[in-house]
Amino acid sequence: MAFELIPLPFDAEALAPAISAETFGYHHGKHHKAYIDKTNAAIAGTDKEGQPLETVIAGARGSDQGLFNNSGQSWNHGFYWHSLCPQSKAPSGDLAGKIDAAFGSFDELKTRLADRGAGHFASGWVWLVDKGGTLSIEETHDGDTWADRDGNPLLTIDLWEHAYYLDHQNARPSYLKAVIDNHLNWDFAAENLARGTTWTYPADRLTG
Ligand code: MN
Repeated sequence: MAFELIPLPFDAEALAPAISAETFGYHHGKHHKAYIDKTNAAIAGTDKEGQPLETVIAGARGSDQGLFNNSGQSWNHGFYWHSLCPQSKAPSGDLAGKIDAAFGSFDELKTRLADRGAGHFASGWVWLVDKGGTLSIEETHDGDTWADRDGNPLLTIDLWEHAYYLDHQNARPSYLKAVIDNHLNWDFAAENLARGTTWTYPADRLTG
């Protein structure tokens, strides 16, 4: 059994010019695929083969850095594709209420996401997390993930240069503004909030 590279949940051209089809071609087709392939190679023939990806991640945290990095990045990118969409729709309902309670306003949340993402040193991820009913912005470094941490991740943004360099060169704030203003999938965040448990990497595990 092996993990599968999940397809993008939108057309690769649909987020241009914020994120181009060329970027998705490399980011999804090369980077994400490599993380999946390396995870599969590392677990093949071991007792981890057949486990859910989240279990593989939790088992590798603190004990197998190579497998942790690759399995975490496999999960992070699947979650990131779902965190994006061709055109954002503003949060409503319970999500909007929790955003206002934690940050004062939706605009303030967007400003803080942009600031935290821009301020993160080198590679990593910025997350919106539901911690027991209170929303907070969190960061993880390199391949670290919120998949196996306390709290329910609602959205993430990739801060690695490969996420934006072709389209924005070194200007990470330009990428963040374009994504946060127009391409965050607040419906996905609301689904995650309503479910109340951490999203799982789609069960597209191939048999054989
Ligand atoms: Mn990436």
